[in-house]
Amino acid sequence: MIQDIFPKKFDNQYRNGKPIDHSRIFVFRERQILIRQDAGQNLSLPCFGEFRKRMDREEWQSEMQYYFSMDGMGYFAYQGDVEPFGEYEYAPVRSFRQMVSKEVCFAIMTAWHLHRWYLASRYCGMCGEKTVHDARERMMRCPACGNVIYPGIAPAVIVAVTDGNRILMSKYADREYKKYALLAGFTEIGETAEETVRREVMEEVGLRVKNIRYYKSQPWGIDGNLLLGFFCELEGCDEIHRDEGELAEAGWFDRDGMPAHDDGISLTREMMGVFERGEEKHIF
Ligand SMILES: [Zn+2]
Repeated sequence: MIQDIFPKKFDNQYRNGKPIDHSRIFVFRERQILIRQDAGQNLSLPCFGEFRKRMDREEWQSEMQYYFSMDGMGYFAYQGDVEPFGEYEYAPVRSFRQMVSKEVCFAIMTAWHLHRWYLASRYCGMCGEKTVHDARERMMRCPACGNVIYPGIAPAVIVAVTDGNRILMSKYADREYKKYALLAGFTEIGETAEETVRREVMEEVGLRVKNIRYYKSQPWGIDGNLLLGFFCELEGCDEIHRDEGELAEAGWFDRDGMPAHDDGISLTREMMGVFERGEEKHIF
């Protein structure tokens, strides 16, 4: 999956550090990121030294927000806007999930999630005052009313419904992602992830399930999610009643005739691979 970047090491412990010349810098402009792509689809982010060389001014360093590290290399975000320079261009954030440099794609997704949270947390939602960064942890604080804002992560389930040698696969209605997927949905306040599984399957395809087993999770920063993967079995009638607002298609597919496979990126696709190899029987 996209977060499996071993032997590289992702370190998201918060530090209140300053960038040095080789630190990598994220610059977002609306839904785009400043990046260099070569002919082989390798991606590189600008480094702080390149910023400094272009415009030698003191403020650069204080306008850089620390995000995380990979293999000891610091990743920061510049909060302002920068015109494209050198071979760097703005490109849509969503265009990178299939690229060869998996760790860069993971870094972009994660940075996007943080960027959106920082943008949405500039003002206190309780009293409207401008917030300030906490010095010790990743948190925004309101100096007027004391409200604290932690990064928001939305949990969502991915559900593989199986029935012997068949699996339920579907396509979303009105989404950019047009390939076959598994059922998915957000966890509501007051509900367990297992209850989300039962509710979403009933809402989207009108089926009952049993033997719900947790598989793995995946951070999916592009949409601000933590995805929780579950396998479960059909209980009772197999007739699908599709929610046409949510799904463009839903149907049963045999294990040896599945229309989508593991892509090494997403939890959904890894779960398809697990079923294709018959390994879901070993998940308890
Ligand atoms: Zn406040």
